[in-house]
Amino acid sequence: MNEFPILGYDIGGTKIAVALMMNDGKVITSERFDNMDTDPEKMLPKLAECGLSMLKTAGISSSAVPGIGISTPSPADIPNGIITAPPNNPKWRNVEIGKFLSEKLGIETIMENDANAGMLAEWFFGAGRGCRNAIYLTMSTGIGGGIIAEGHLIEGKSFFAGEIGHMVIDREGPLCNCGLRGCYEAFCGGRAVAQRLQSELSGQPEHAIVKAAGGKVENINFVTLEKAVIAGDKYAMEIWEEIALRNAQGIGILINIFNPEKIILGTIAWAAGDIFLSPIKRYLPQFCWKETLADCEITVSALRRDIGSYAGPAIVLNHLYNEGRYNPFG
Ligand SMILES: [Zn+2]
Repeated sequence: MNEFPILGYDIGGTKIAVALMMNDGKVITSERFDNMDTDPEKMLPKLAECGLSMLKTAGISSSAVPGIGISTPSPADIPNGIITAPPNNPKWRNVEIGKFLSEKLGIETIMENDANAGMLAEWFFGAGRGCRNAIYLTMSTGIGGGIIAEGHLIEGKSFFAGEIGHMVIDREGPLCNCGLRGCYEAFCGGRAVAQRLQSELSGQPEHAIVKAAGGKVENINFVTLEKAVIAGDKYAMEIWEEIALRNAQGIGILINIFNPEKIILGTIAWAAGDIFLSPIKRYLPQFCWKETLADCEITVSALRRDIGSYAGPAIVLNHLYNEGRYNPFG
């Protein structure tokens, strides 16, 4: 297979991105729906219609498209293409999106969770292109992970492999949304950090972090923390160091287990840049060997905010790659 078009759907927390692109990553057209709060019964036909009209406008027949990739939040029934219980969308329960789109468009659908799809997007189109061993961490509200080991995405027996955010790194740590205590995500996930700061700073309207949040404790997030760090606030800098140490712990474990050539960090990492990465790199030698560390480049997502558009198509490419029908890495 040389050149072919692929269709991708990225189901996010608040929006859905649909993209039609070529296998080399050239985008033909893309669209975004900002209404994930709509009932899926109303939304699914719109999504199918969108895909059909994209193909029609581009003059591409369904038979020319080898697959539709669907990137979904966890948890999901991956092999059956069902979104089961996304945390941010109570209306989207047991939605058979794979079957629906496949029937309406006459194209096979393949599903992956969003973190795995992010890894695949970086693998085929971004910072991890062609790596035999690489790990992607989403670093957003939560910490999701996708692992490429020896040239293949690891999925595990029941598709839970790569749940890196839920490694327990301190059993006496904060309670995580998943029910465990002391998960990596409970220390470093954007939501967990915001909740911690909001609770520790309530009743302190003059604090630098609260001021950076426009005086509203409920608006404190990772960005307001970063602003207070840049402004030199002592408490913010202490928290920042603590988060860097925990990130180094999580990442260091991965480096020694998988010996990856790249660890690619998403959202928070590329948005903040060096101020985020430098302290992590400073702590890493405490958590992995110098040999494995020397082989591993810690980098940020190349696709950045566009990663969602590439996620769905990358799922299809991985499917074809696993079937031996496509290999862009030569
Ligand atoms: Zn957890």
